[in-house]
Amino acid sequence: MHTIHTIDLKFQKVEKTIASFLIQGKGKPVLIETGPHSTWNQLKSSLQHLGFKPKDLAAVLLTHIHFDHAGAAWEFAKAGVKVYLHPKGITHLSNPIKLWNSAAKIYGDEKMDTLWGPMESIDPNFLVSVDDMEDVSIEGLTFTSIHSPGHASHHIAWQLGESVFTGDVGGVKIKNGPVVPPCPPPDIHIEAWKSSIEKISDCHPKELYLTHFGKISNPQEHLSQLISVLDDWAIWIKRKFDQNELAEEITPEFMNYTAKQLENKGAGKDLQKLYELANPSWMSVGGLLRYWKLKTEGRL
Ligand SMILES: [Zn+2]
Repeated sequence: MHTIHTIDLKFQKVEKTIASFLIQGKGKPVLIETGPHSTWNQLKSSLQHLGFKPKDLAAVLLTHIHFDHAGAAWEFAKAGVKVYLHPKGITHLSNPIKLWNSAAKIYGDEKMDTLWGPMESIDPNFLVSVDDMEDVSIEGLTFTSIHSPGHASHHIAWQLGESVFTGDVGGVKIKNGPVVPPCPPPDIHIEAWKSSIEKISDCHPKELYLTHFGKISNPQEHLSQLISVLDDWAIWIKRKFDQNELAEEITPEFMNYTAKQLENKGAGKDLQKLYELANPSWMSVGGLLRYWKLKTEGRL
C-alpha cells in the first residue's frame, strides 16, 4: 500500500494552481512533478513537514519538461536523486538553454525570473529515459509510463495502481470549476491528445491526479468532458484561422470566450483568475493556431 500526498506549491502565492505529489510506500518516497524553481522553497518546506529532505527521495518522476512541472528537477539531481522522464526530454534538461529561450519567447524575458526562477543543467547520469508502457519499480512501488503526446510530445502520464498522474494531458480543473485543455505552443496535436486520453481511459483508473490541480474521483466523466472542450476550442480557433485573423485579434476574443465558458459552468471571477494563472488562455491561441497551420500545410 502507499499514501499519496498532494503538495500545494502555492505558485505566485496563490493556492491550488500547481501541485507536486509525494508517494510514500514502505521505502523511500517518490516525488511526481517538481513544480517550477520559483516554488522551490515552498516544496522544500512541504517535504520537510512530511519528514523529508530533497536528498531523502528515491526518485523524481516528471510528466513533462514544461517549467511549471520540471523547473526544480535540477535541484533534486544536484542532491543525488535520479529524475525519470520521456526520452525526448533528456537533451532539454541536460542543456536547458533551448527550453529557456522558447519559454522566454512565450512569456517575455522580464517575466521569466518571477514566474519560473533559474534553470540549471542536469548531469545526464541523473536523467533516466523511460519507454512507453515501461514499468518502473522503485522501492517496491511500480509506476507505468504512459507516453501521452498531444499537449507536449514529451509527455508521460504515470500510472500507479488505480491512480494516474496526468500532468497536463488530463486537463486543468481547479476546485469546483470545469476541466479545460492547456494548449500552449509548440506541440499541440488534437488527434494525438485524444488518443492519449483514450489510452489513459483504457487503464480504467479510479482516480486521476492533475498537476493543476489535485484529485479527480470521476475519471471517465472528467476525460470525456475534456475531449468535448478540446474539440470546442480547436474548432473555435479553426474558424478564426480560416478567416486569416491575426493572433493579436483573436486573443482578446478567445479570452472573452473562455471566460464566459467558465462563468457559464459556475466559475466566478476569483476562480477564473486561478485558471488564468494555471493555464493562461492567451497561450492556447498560439498553440492551437500553430496546430492548424501545420495541419493545413500537411506537416502533422
Ligand atoms: Zn505543460
